[in-house]
Amino acid sequence: MAFDIEMIKKVYATMAERVDKARELVGRPLTLSEKILYSHLWEGTPSQAFTRGKDYVDFAPDRVACQDATAQMALLQFMHAGKPKVAVPTTVHCDHLIQAKVDAKTDLKRAKEQSNEVFDFLSSVSNKYGIGFWKPGAGIIHQVVLENYAFPGGMMIGTDSHTVNAGGLGMLAIGVGGADAVDVMSGMAWELKFPKLIGIKLTGKLSGWTAPKDIILKVAGILTVKGGTGAIIEYFGEGATAMSCTGKGTICNMGAEVGATTSTFGYDESMDRYLRATSRADVADEAAKVADYLTADSEVYENPEQYFDQVIEINLSELEPHLNGPFTPDLATPISKMKEEAIKNDWPLNIQVGLIGSCTNSSYEDISRSVSLAKQAAEKKLKPKSKFTITPGSELVRYTIERDGFIDTFDKIGATVFANACGPCIGMWDREGSEKEERNTIVHSFNRNFSKRADGNPNTLAFVGSPEMVTALAIAGDLGFNPITDKLINEDGEEVMLDEPTGWELPPDGFAVDDAGFQAPAEDGSGVQVVVSPESERLQLLEPFAPWDGKNIMGAKLLIKAFGKCTTDHISMAGPWLRFRGHLDNISNNMLIGGVNAYNMKTNSVKNQLTGDYDAVPNVARAYKAANVPSIVVGDHNYGEGSSREHAAMEPRHLGVRAVLVKSFARIHETNLKKQGMLALTFANEADYDKIQENDTFNFIDLTEFAPGKQLTLEVVHADGTKDVITANHSYNEGQIGWFNAGSALNLIAAANK
Ligand code: SF4
Repeated sequence: MAFDIEMIKKVYATMAERVDKARELVGRPLTLSEKILYSHLWEGTPSQAFTRGKDYVDFAPDRVACQDATAQMALLQFMHAGKPKVAVPTTVHCDHLIQAKVDAKTDLKRAKEQSNEVFDFLSSVSNKYGIGFWKPGAGIIHQVVLENYAFPGGMMIGTDSHTVNAGGLGMLAIGVGGADAVDVMSGMAWELKFPKLIGIKLTGKLSGWTAPKDIILKVAGILTVKGGTGAIIEYFGEGATAMSCTGKGTICNMGAEVGATTSTFGYDESMDRYLRATSRADVADEAAKVADYLTADSEVYENPEQYFDQVIEINLSELEPHLNGPFTPDLATPISKMKEEAIKNDWPLNIQVGLIGSCTNSSYEDISRSVSLAKQAAEKKLKPKSKFTITPGSELVRYTIERDGFIDTFDKIGATVFANACGPCIGMWDREGSEKEERNTIVHSFNRNFSKRADGNPNTLAFVGSPEMVTALAIAGDLGFNPITDKLINEDGEEVMLDEPTGWELPPDGFAVDDAGFQAPAEDGSGVQVVVSPESERLQLLEPFAPWDGKNIMGAKLLIKAFGKCTTDHISMAGPWLRFRGHLDNISNNMLIGGVNAYNMKTNSVKNQLTGDYDAVPNVARAYKAANVPSIVVGDHNYGEGSSREHAAMEPRHLGVRAVLVKSFARIHETNLKKQGMLALTFANEADYDKIQENDTFNFIDLTEFAPGKQLTLEVVHADGTKDVITANHSYNEGQIGWFNAGSALNLIAAANK
């Protein structure tokens, strides 16, 4: 149905030549990560060795995946590329817009009513442009990708940070912003700084209560939320090969929680088994032919210190189950220490809800191990003390576990099965009573546990654990319970213990599904109409941004001089604004509302130089735009750090801002500004930031000579008529200046496709 065996064969056909050439250029054995990177260069066969953590390199990913919240703006932009079809296999998954409240059926029906317009739009655009569309209820993007599209040695990007989950099948899968996805869908290269490499050697073997989740919980405790930044984590060792493919997926999934670019594992029998179980024997057969290229050269794992930037070793035979939290996924506590820590920190011991599933932990293996505990609870007359919910990751898993009687068993302990969607993992959980903001504890098998993430209540303390540990804790209702050592009292007043969980890596009777929820695109989509109502408040077709008129920009008013940190959240806030992610004009009403005005230290209060009044940033920008007056934003260091969302660049462009002049940029935001046809400039002399005054007007003196490596000169006219002339640096190359001239990178692609 869904995967593209011809594409995979093509990748494997060139792999040997490219990897062998890379080995020769690098002059040493290669890690798996390097093999995949060098076999996916935009230039094809490598012609040079790259420096890790330094060189920016163009890559050619094999696939793109988008989820419904981020796909809206990505597809709206793609529609402007002038392409009849996407250039690489792409899928869209409806999973984020489904709120969990009652049960799967009721919640799905309500979501379809509420977000029908968005789902219809995504479906019709997918149909038109050759994109595979997974309907609401089909499952969570990363689980569906693992079941259908991930393949050993492949490279994919996805507009979601947990795209990294596909590393479980030996891919390099990386989360990106929508603008990057649009580039690849349009047939352009995708740029990434050649990552550093962290090797994690897993010795020993998991057993008893310990699960793959505990490995990544332990790793998060070691590396912290920043420790993987700019690096790929490559797992190896006997503990890695002994683990299931879906267990590897869980570990890679939460690599996002340590900031890693992605994580991966070498090809092994567990991957072969998983591919065959998910109807992809042909992929397994092809992978087997190039198996040597789908894992590191043998010398690498023998002497990892020589080949990785950092090496960590974990003995799985000694690893204890962990619970991480609250409020951060790197606060790792072994289960035997939890009671002590909870009492010391005054964490409420009473567990209100245990939630299993999500894209992180909803494999057949996960659910079968959890159900073995639910079965024991029923047999041993233990009534769960906490509420208990299950969020299956896909219809394939849900259908199979229902067939195998697991849902019936969960029913016996009063569990609720939510829709196959993100639900409580992304705050789409209409939890009864959460508005009271009472302090309470929940445990879940998801990946993130930041404040408010699950139910919007800042006083909910969420602890992350394996599905089996979450199930045991929900049965006990006590955060201090250690199932390895502690007894519980059953309904007859007897002391009982839970036996170790047991389960199956894969369903003994195979996977089954009635309707997986996939919609294949039209063979010829040229006749498909994409309809967006002009009255819609959630979707708006994009108008191409105007090309540069070839003249120096004169009379640009200062919109805001941002003080201190100004992240993409300050520039384009999330939360309630998520609703408008597909409507540029409406979401622009959040532009820079979180930025601090350096002149009054207030947020969302800047001077309108045309009236002298203070107003919200978007209102002032709109007033300048209506008066045909260009505007400029000035900022501090690392402007635009944080998420790669392109809205933070599109909104100022839409509201008439022509240039962003800062002390320094976060690189992705700088690129996003360039792509949208803006001027992204840095002060040549940082101290010039202090010369900018509230009533300043900017004239560009030599924009007509805009060229790579040549500074730009700006005349800053102050209210009293005095002037400062300042120089600005930029990092535009010839091609990027073409984006500026054309009005945006997409305009340029569209012109080339005419
Ligand atoms: Fe993201 Fe959670 Fe959905 Fe996974 S289940 S894709 S982590 S929101």
